Amino acid sequence: MSRKSSIVTVEPPAYTTDAEKLEIAGFECPYCCGQGKWSEEVGRNVYVEHTCRVCKGVKELKAIITIGWLPNIKPE
Ligand SMILES: [Zn+2]
Repeated sequence: MSRKSSIVTVEPPAYTTDAEKLEIAGFECPYCCGQGKWSEEVGRNVYVEHTCRVCKGVKELKAIITIGWLPNIKPE
């Protein structure tokens, strides 16, 4: 079975040690299988609709990745 994935290549920036923030979007929500909601039958022909609590009904998730850079000081 195929699936979508992303690969992040980590490389130190040339002129700064400021933190980097990456955002990768477009992942189908695995909790609701990209539906955003589902119906539950609570009685005969009575349905209650639930919004996915993970993606809040948006159907997709995004990753926020923060990378901090520090000198690699080794103990003597
Ligand atoms: Zn969801």
